[in-house]
Amino acid sequence: MKFLKFRYENKINFGILEENGVVKKINGNPFYGYSVTNIVFLPNEIELLPPCSPSKIIAIGLNYIDHAKELKMSIPDEPIIFLKPPSSLLGPEGQIIYPEMSNQVDYETELAIVMKDEVKNISEEESLNCILGFTCANDVTARDLQKKDGQWTRAKSFDTFSPIGPYIVTDINPDNLKIELFLNGEIKQSSSTSNMIFNVRRLIGFISNIMTLYPEDIIMTGTPPGVGPVKKGDTVEVKIEGIGSLRNYVN
Ligand code: MG
Repeated sequence: MKFLKFRYENKINFGILEENGVVKKINGNPFYGYSVTNIVFLPNEIELLPPCSPSKIIAIGLNYIDHAKELKMSIPDEPIIFLKPPSSLLGPEGQIIYPEMSNQVDYETELAIVMKDEVKNISEEESLNCILGFTCANDVTARDLQKKDGQWTRAKSFDTFSPIGPYIVTDINPDNLKIELFLNGEIKQSSSTSNMIFNVRRLIGFISNIMTLYPEDIIMTGTPPGVGPVKKGDTVEVKIEGIGSLRNYVN
């Protein structure tokens, strides 16, 4: 199932993407319960929004060995977590605003977990029962400010620095998905989620032993090697096997 959130004539709805490409409106939402209607939209009639409204976005640093090496950082023995504010969310096809404070803004393609249940202290074994599914994310980062500040809040938190979408895909095995990033159509990152140091179950278990996770919360699971800078006018596209393609423009 592919859930999405969209705007049509100033109203915000959830929907399901059907096999034939049309969007079927649902009443309610996929987190707390819904019913499917017979109201159908074509993709070009609607504006896609970030597919959920998280209370927090938890992100993982250095979760692919080769990415840690390219940043000349040591390989962690436990997941390194940080937060991005919900105010940094951006939907599919939205504009990433290049901040005046930075001279190096990088893309980072990432698999994002979308929570469904409120959970605390969940085991790794139970973790996948508590999620709605997965979506694509771009953990946009002001790399110069990340290095300068020594901690990552400013570098990761500018408005529009957390594009997610286009859909939340349920019933997909996250362990071996091709994950890519295209900059102006040219491939820049290409890996598999099988190369994560800490897999999806480990991450959910670990984080839920620190903080309560709520429905719609997002966990960005880290980026593979090949991160690099964008400039104004660029098109960046995160592509994950079985989930879809998340395209944004730098402005
Ligand atoms: Mg990242």
